Amino acid sequence: MTLLFDFKSSDERINTLAESIQSKLKLIIGKDPIIATEHDWLNATSYAVRDLIVERWLRSVRASLSQSDRRVSYLSMEFLIGRTLSNTLLNLEIYDDVSQALNKIGVDLEKLVNEEDDPGLGNGGLGRLAACFLDSLATLKIPATGYGIRYEYGMFKQNIVDGQQTESPDNWLEYGNAWEFPRTNLRYKVQFGGRIQKEGNTSRWINTEEILACAYDQIVMGYGSDATNTLRLWSARTNNEMNLGKFNKGDYIGAVKDKNFSENISRILYPNDATSSGKKLRLGQEYFLVSATLQNILHTHYRVYNTYDNLVDKVAIHLNDTHPVLAIPELMRLLIDEHGYSWSKSWEMTEKIFSYTNHTLMSEALETWPVEMMGDILPRHLEIIFEINDHFLRIVKEKFPNDHELLTRVSLIDEKHGRQIRMAWLAVVGCYKINGVSELHSELMVQNLFSDFSKIFPNRFCNVTNGITPRRWLALSNKPLSYLLDESIGKTWRNDLGVISEINNHACYPSFIERIKECKLENKKKLALYIAENLNIIINPNSLFDVQIKRIHEYKRQLLNLLQVINRYNRILQSPNDDWVPRVVIFSGKAASSYVTAKTIIHLINDVANVINNDQRIKNKLKVVFIPNYSVSLAQLIIPAADLSEQISLAGTEASGTGNMKFALNGALTIGTLDGANIEIKEHVGTDNIFIFGNTAEEVEEIRLQGYEPRKIYENDHEVNQVLNQIASGFFNSEEPERYRALYDSLINFGDYYQLLADFRSYVDTQDDVDALYKQPELWAQKSVSNIANMGYFSSDRTIDEYARDIWKVKPTIL
Ligand SMILES: *Cc1c(COP(=O)(O)O)cnc(C)c1O
Repeated sequence: MTLLFDFKSSDERINTLAESIQSKLKLIIGKDPIIATEHDWLNATSYAVRDLIVERWLRSVRASLSQSDRRVSYLSMEFLIGRTLSNTLLNLEIYDDVSQALNKIGVDLEKLVNEEDDPGLGNGGLGRLAACFLDSLATLKIPATGYGIRYEYGMFKQNIVDGQQTESPDNWLEYGNAWEFPRTNLRYKVQFGGRIQKEGNTSRWINTEEILACAYDQIVMGYGSDATNTLRLWSARTNNEMNLGKFNKGDYIGAVKDKNFSENISRILYPNDATSSGKKLRLGQEYFLVSATLQNILHTHYRVYNTYDNLVDKVAIHLNDTHPVLAIPELMRLLIDEHGYSWSKSWEMTEKIFSYTNHTLMSEALETWPVEMMGDILPRHLEIIFEINDHFLRIVKEKFPNDHELLTRVSLIDEKHGRQIRMAWLAVVGCYKINGVSELHSELMVQNLFSDFSKIFPNRFCNVTNGITPRRWLALSNKPLSYLLDESIGKTWRNDLGVISEINNHACYPSFIERIKECKLENKKKLALYIAENLNIIINPNSLFDVQIKRIHEYKRQLLNLLQVINRYNRILQSPNDDWVPRVVIFSGKAASSYVTAKTIIHLINDVANVINNDQRIKNKLKVVFIPNYSVSLAQLIIPAADLSEQISLAGTEASGTGNMKFALNGALTIGTLDGANIEIKEHVGTDNIFIFGNTAEEVEEIRLQGYEPRKIYENDHEVNQVLNQIASGFFNSEEPERYRALYDSLINFGDYYQLLADFRSYVDTQDDVDALYKQPELWAQKSVSNIANMGYFSSDRTIDEYARDIWKVKPTIL
């Protein structure tokens, strides 16, 4: 890789950087070094570093456009990218140079890195996956653009007040964003509302309201190559022409109201993870992303080729879940209404352009939109969706003439539930490839959710198991382990993670095992310091760090973990003189603001923590910590410090998980169910190096069919009995004893939908195995090495390689 100034000596380089940072502070921030705040220095440093990559960015985009091959557009309502400065320094391999340059000025790089706002433009796994993909796309030089929304307010900030989650707005743009380039000349009109006027066979969409979509570009750097891509985020502005019209007619309120409506489109991220919200504004957001993006793709394409006839050869559009699935009728609309193609020609093209990733099988998470709402907001699209449905059902009828039920089941319109459009069905009908995100998930997807469709379109379905970028999730987050790896096997693991298996050969050397233990301890001390400073809880870094961090959701079963914690507490009180392995149980995660049960679980975790941490009889044998405001940055701090990774979802509910991969790559052992990618992790690291418990997806189904009776377990297992009675009777919250009655009822009296009790005994016994192994530190460390060594498969570089080859049919750019 060539740096722009790599001809200079190290000293000269550091001096140049220092000068550049100081000049940015003066000329762009407009401040004297004497009064500059840390944030000013952060911005100055960011601008100086950005200068180093702009040129190669422009060159890279130019090269990929001129090579006239297929390009990928990755559409996602969420990109959870994390902080940019540290990642850019890593990619440019100038971390130490910049650190020294800042030292000369008397500024601490580590502080600046932590001063950067962590843009929360996503809820969790889905948005983080999109971010890992951008990183891998650039690293593999695949010509691609990420398209999303520049939410003014990202994921809310979570505070814990009296044990409960409170939410406050995340105003991440408050102090400016040094990494974005506003594209003032790149704006598209997005229409809403209005009505359809029929003129013979053609439809005209008229009397619409218009909103402007303005592009903001971020550079996406790859590692170890000159290739860069773009993340293009759309921001909504009022279309001034419209408002002026109303204003001139004296409708001042109307003009202002319009402005609010349209600018609200990109105002805020919906904080729902894995549930569909069904709100008008959300539909507006989804269409806003799709319409601006499709216009931009067509516009760029036409500038290069002067025709749309070859669109299929040049354009691959990927839909991250169903959220951007309106892209399908939108492309149809643009081709038919704006560019004069026939319906059938347009459909022929559309069907070869889109691919879609399914992220969940849970029915409450499947998007549907009422026909009526669609008709109000997007009448032309509703018409096109009906036409696609007619066309599709005609084909199904021809293929399966005797199965009338089939037509009802696969129709894009669900007539039973008040006429709803099934967005997942639209995705399957309009995409040439549909993938799940782990082997188990893809299998279940074809067997259950899309079983009818897999008969109609047998070649459309495939699996691409998720991955994570080893740059952010090892090189950046775990410096001690990274240095040890560099020393042991060289530096190439950063973009060729397969080579990490070479440390398998080192696992038998006691000195290497000793080093592995030192790395872990160093990371644990760093986390312990954070917890002491921020939460005022003192934890012992020599305890077993047992970690469950992810969105709070019933299917992820944080409550199962907590039942086990309470049980451990009871056991310690009962036999205080046993040889207990000291444990710190760490939770972190946000609950959707409207998700009452998830919020109650957070409250209970904190109530339990309060009792256990203040019980003098327990001392250091058990501590419970809830770390507020989970984010990418916090994940980077917590994961390298974990000994044990909790991946305990009910089998069949977690599509893949990516948190599980981050932990194993950083040397934590997993305790988990046979769900999502846990199964593949087990196959790679080996059955002896992972703690598997609980029912399989098949057994879960079987139990459900047989009539599951959680109350029987409650009555027969005295430990379960005691724990649940404590929760129900206010043992942890005597000031309001009824607080958790509903939680108790959901387990005992309302069917325990996620089968916590069915897995409890197996979970508790497996936790005993964990303790037993932790008492043999050498063996534990060896197993930890086996995890690190065998995670090569879970690099998102491998994932993207498969997407590029099997789904998108794209090749790397030659630079
Ligand atoms: C990786 C990650 C997730 C996904 O975690 P799962 O355990 O797979 O649900 C969610 N949020 C953040 C911030 C992450 O980094």
